[in-house]
Amino acid sequence: MRRHRNAKILATVGPASDSDDTLRAMFAAGADVFRLNFSHGTHEEHARRYAIIRGLEKESGRPIGIMQDLQGPKLRIGRLEAGKVRLERGDVYRFDLDPAPGDRTRAPLPHPEIFACLEPGATILIDDGRMRLTAQEVKNDSAVFEVETGGELSDRKGVNVPGTVMPLSPLTEKDRRDLAFGMELGVDWVALSFVQRPEDLAEARRLIDGRAALMAKIEKPAALARLEELVELSDAIMVARGDLGVEIPPEEVPGRQKEIIYACRWAGKPVVVATQMLDSMVNSPAPTRAEASDVATAIYDGADAVMLSAETAAGHYVVESVAMMDRIISKTERDVSYRPIIEALHPPPEPTAPDAISAAAAQVAQTISAAAIVTYTSSGSTALRAARERPTAPLLTLTSRLSTARRLAVLWGAQCVHTADISSFPEMVEKASRIAVDNGFAQPGSKLAITAGVPFGTPGATNVLRIAWVGN
Ligand code: PEP
Repeated sequence: MRRHRNAKILATVGPASDSDDTLRAMFAAGADVFRLNFSHGTHEEHARRYAIIRGLEKESGRPIGIMQDLQGPKLRIGRLEAGKVRLERGDVYRFDLDPAPGDRTRAPLPHPEIFACLEPGATILIDDGRMRLTAQEVKNDSAVFEVETGGELSDRKGVNVPGTVMPLSPLTEKDRRDLAFGMELGVDWVALSFVQRPEDLAEARRLIDGRAALMAKIEKPAALARLEELVELSDAIMVARGDLGVEIPPEEVPGRQKEIIYACRWAGKPVVVATQMLDSMVNSPAPTRAEASDVATAIYDGADAVMLSAETAAGHYVVESVAMMDRIISKTERDVSYRPIIEALHPPPEPTAPDAISAAAAQVAQTISAAAIVTYTSSGSTALRAARERPTAPLLTLTSRLSTARRLAVLWGAQCVHTADISSFPEMVEKASRIAVDNGFAQPGSKLAITAGVPFGTPGATNVLRIAWVGN
């Protein structure tokens, strides 16, 4: 099943998309990668959804990526006696380590690391930034705050401490259990939440041990400060605008989003723009025009993928949301201004054989109007370099590793086919031609720009560019 667009769609699975029929319809409408959000749901639910998606992959023959998104160290207040309490601007309120349910004067905040880092005058945000409090007095086990922006404080609300690097591992005990479970299932991507420092990635890498690719979610200002290193050390990046948008002012989000996309495009690492993209479609069959424009902006900037969260996990218009995303991407990629804008950033090839070949293939394919660039790839690294060129010709990637094919589902332009290794030049051309025709990329007489590595089957050896005519 060929997709007629380059940017990919990630769709979060949740209660609203929890059936064979809905997942099938989402895939048919354009979902390329399914996200299992481990902030919600049981292992049994995730396992059932995983099995359905793998079934769809088998039926369709198109590799599908499955991402496990770990919850990470989300900070939350404890419980309140009455379940909630209203705080007004100017009120004085205490948070402390006492687990006793909270009241009008205080509430539990079971995170000693917050009290250890907080300075008087620092701000904390509650309930996705709806409430804002300023620390007045800080002790080891408590802090007294003045309420700047009031609201309703209720059980287990999330807390953000912007501008403070906290000594928190991005892997909680729950994350470790979930990750072990994800590895057993066989997920293709693991997304790590609340990454702050490059060293935060090390432990996840060790536990994953090559069994999945690692995506760092950028949702802390501290992570922005170390962006280049995080891009280098991860396999992909997510612009997690939900939490990021709580910790930095709204007016800063668009600029930081572009900075992250450009850093990833420069490095040749996939980048996903996430959260609230078509948010109004949770309750409405059509998005706002501003939301359509937000998706298009990510596409013009050259993001590899855009993500649906509540729209597909908990919304009333799940399949419509995927179809709408598909339409916005397709329309944007056909817009006359798309190529000039996307080419405004064209990172030069690095002095390596795979980059030289990938850049040449993009150029050659454009010059001869090739029907496709066909890239033989083993680990997927040549596909990443080929996509970094953002070529005008479709990018057909052939790999003998199913894990590579599934991981590449997130990559800009990559239309991946899982097939056996090749062992000779005639076979290289014959297989590329046959698969290009079978998948609707080419027809007899079409030209192809084929890249591969000789000796054949050697990972990382891309060193050949061949122009071929598809025979009858
Ligand atoms: C986000 O914060 O934007 C995000 C993608 O993470 P989550 O949905 O897990 O909060």
